[in-house]
Amino acid sequence: MTRKIGETLHDISENPSIEADVIVVGAGFAGITAARELKRAGKSVAMLEARSRLGGRSLSRPIGDGKVVELGCEFHGQSDSVSARTARSVGIGSHKVYDDGYKLIDDGGRIARWKGAIPKVSPAALVDFGQAALRIERMRREVPQEAPWQAPHAVQWDSETMWSWTQRNIRTKAGRSLMRLLIESGMAASPAEVSVLHVLNYSNGTGGFRAMTTVTGGTLENRFVGGSHGLALRLAQSVTAETYVGAAVRRINHFSDHVRVSGSGFEAVGRRVVVAVPVPLSGRIEYDPVLPAYRDQLTQRLTFGSAIKYLALYDEPFWRAAGLTGMAISHTSPVRAVLDGSPPDGSPGVLTAFVTGPAAHAVGRLSEGKRRELLLREFVRYFGPRAGKPYDIIEQNWMAEPYTRGCYHAYAPPGLYTEYGPALKEPIGRIHWAGAESVPVEFGSMSGAIYSGQRVATEIIACDADDGPGHLTAGPGKPATSRSVL
Ligand SMILES: Cc1cc2nc3c(=O)[nH]c(=O)nc-3n(C[C@H](O)[C@H](O)[C@H](O)COP(=O)(O)OP(=O)(O)OC[C@H]3O[C@@H](n4cnc5c(N)ncnc54)[C@H](O)[C@@H]3O)c2cc1C
Repeated sequence: MTRKIGETLHDISENPSIEADVIVVGAGFAGITAARELKRAGKSVAMLEARSRLGGRSLSRPIGDGKVVELGCEFHGQSDSVSARTARSVGIGSHKVYDDGYKLIDDGGRIARWKGAIPKVSPAALVDFGQAALRIERMRREVPQEAPWQAPHAVQWDSETMWSWTQRNIRTKAGRSLMRLLIESGMAASPAEVSVLHVLNYSNGTGGFRAMTTVTGGTLENRFVGGSHGLALRLAQSVTAETYVGAAVRRINHFSDHVRVSGSGFEAVGRRVVVAVPVPLSGRIEYDPVLPAYRDQLTQRLTFGSAIKYLALYDEPFWRAAGLTGMAISHTSPVRAVLDGSPPDGSPGVLTAFVTGPAAHAVGRLSEGKRRELLLREFVRYFGPRAGKPYDIIEQNWMAEPYTRGCYHAYAPPGLYTEYGPALKEPIGRIHWAGAESVPVEFGSMSGAIYSGQRVATEIIACDADDGPGHLTAGPGKPATSRSVL
């Protein structure tokens, strides 16, 4: 059933007391999907969203003529990915990202053109990096999607960072630098912080290590018509769950037969709660009784990547006439990666840029004027003087968003998967977990988030079948018992 956004969208301040079978916290792709599936299964659902809008890390800005630019998630790879299939199920198709021509690579002053999947580097670095990439492709095939911690060499791969692995396995400076660039632009984190096992699992979700930062044949190949935020809203329209905005959840009291979810001036009582906020943020909610240490410490360790996204708008995508795709990557510039983010008809021209990893913090501390100056200087270096004259620039710093705090997604440092991995999705009594980071499958992506919403709905339906229908009791009840993951 389709409804207009607004029909069941309420301001929490007008609804201080709520009751439903399931309370869903967070209305990103994960929460919306969970609510949708649970409603379909006949549960009453109340979705609580802290922001005044739905969609979480998907966000569009209208630019006229019914077109949008995307400030959050944007790309999807394989046409059979969970997000692409879900989009088709609600009548949303995809369009290709422009990829006709040369890409640019900046090695610290010299800008070279290249075509194909591997950026232009010296022959020695190409062989060196190519062999390492092949090794990674072989290793990732041993990593089970649902449980990377069960890979045969999980302990070994989870005990080192991607940077120490790179130093052992890539000898040339240029090859190492390329690995740093791919991890920093693809995962928005320094390779010195990320576990090898995490990179292997993550690249399984993108259809391969090389696909991670590739347009044609890779994870950057497609965009949703109308933008990914349009998809989130279309999915939300098909949820008949009552949705409350402005509802920042601060506390969850959990008992043997119900949960009480509350924030400033409101309280929601349900039989179960789905926490569909990013794992690092789930640790900022207060739980009573306190969560078991394995879950609490998971939230202390899984951490967000760092990125600022920029969109520069031009009358036309002038770089195309110069034979360029609009993609530029840099070993040295804080503006690590640029892509053509124009609408399908190429009007206006849009350059999408990412400042990622450690550089995002340095740039984030600059004044607005200095940030703009830096961005335009780098655009001009890549694409010439016209790139210095956009008619608009939009900046989105997800690290500064109180209900996100990082970008694009979280990542696992060494030791996390093997020590805490099962706790990502293990329910604690009547508290269930969803979110792009709550499952290792297509970790950190729109697909991962949607998959997690479907998974948690199935979990709750199965738990309720074991429990019997039950009744809501808003009284104190007995504290919940925790289940061990070990
Ligand atoms: C700049 C950027 C680029 C990206 N690019 C891509 C891409 O190209 N392809 C791709 O697949 N993925 C991409 N991603 C990742 C993708 O956006 C996320 O994986 C996905 O949207 C996460 O969905 P989610 O529902 O798990 O979490 P979120 O979207 O983070 O939703 C969580 C919701 O919970 C709410 N919330 C938080 N705390 C509380 C609280 N205490 N109480 C109530 N509500 C709360 C938030 O406001 C939010 O609405 C990108 C992300 C960013 C930021």
